[in-house]
Amino acid sequence: MAERALRVPENVEGPFFVDSSCIDCDTCRQLAPDTFADQGEHSYVHTQPRNPAEERAALRALSACPTGSIGAVDKRGIAAAIADFPLELAPGVFYCGFNSRKSFGGNSYFVVHPDGNWLIDSPRYVEHLARRFHQMGGIRHIFLTHRDDVADAEKWAARFGASRIIHRWELSSQPSAERVIEGIDAIELAPCFLAIPTPGHTRGHCVLLYGDEFLFTGDHLWWSRARRGLHASRDVCWYSWEDQLQSVLKLVSYSFEWILPGHGQRIHLPRAEMRSQMARLTRDLTP
Ligand code: SF4
Repeated sequence: MAERALRVPENVEGPFFVDSSCIDCDTCRQLAPDTFADQGEHSYVHTQPRNPAEERAALRALSACPTGSIGAVDKRGIAAAIADFPLELAPGVFYCGFNSRKSFGGNSYFVVHPDGNWLIDSPRYVEHLARRFHQMGGIRHIFLTHRDDVADAEKWAARFGASRIIHRWELSSQPSAERVIEGIDAIELAPCFLAIPTPGHTRGHCVLLYGDEFLFTGDHLWWSRARRGLHASRDVCWYSWEDQLQSVLKLVSYSFEWILPGHGQRIHLPRAEMRSQMARLTRDLTP
């Protein structure tokens, strides 16, 4: 729970504040950009919510914050904000919320599908989400992009009897995973669900392409608000930057409209514009 005595000095006066336990994960800035901004090492409240919609967004951010670093004087709207999760982004595709500290506040997603639902990376295990997932048909598959973002995957798998899917080279983070991806070739996990190994950030990092429309990118690439474009960074590449560049190039031959990352901003663009953004990214990154 956030402590008012530890509030960071950049907060503007008012009911919402961020305290010094913030790990600068960006979740609140994605969910409530009208309220939260980046100081460089932590978030702060740049403008207090000015209307009910902004207050609802700020309370969603408070619920999703992995470290409980956001405080509010009046939390009467919190139950309604929690009930918004999982948050529908497109028909059948949801952002889970409840980001986990174990994944440094990584985003996770839920896909409703007639052949069984998918969880992509893992949110915190909380009863509200478990109840909602159950109401929406449970979880059949859990796709783990890489070792950093597994969070509570084991608990989710146990609760729903779901099959966890991860690359062999990431298996140390989830040794009891039920399905293991091998090598560097794309593999169809189920109709409409294609796993594409994208070594770079970590050796066994994989992205998931759903229905030629949604690309779940883990920590491979994301939308940069500052650059107004797709971005990948050597600063957060733990395995091989050269391999990561090859993995970005590999994605150019696929077609999609959404980038749904673990860390960083998600984005939906018309297909042609996404294609040109991918081309621009490869040009920017090529030495
Ligand atoms: S969601 Fe929480 S930890 Fe993440 S940047 Fe915001 S205040 Fe900090």
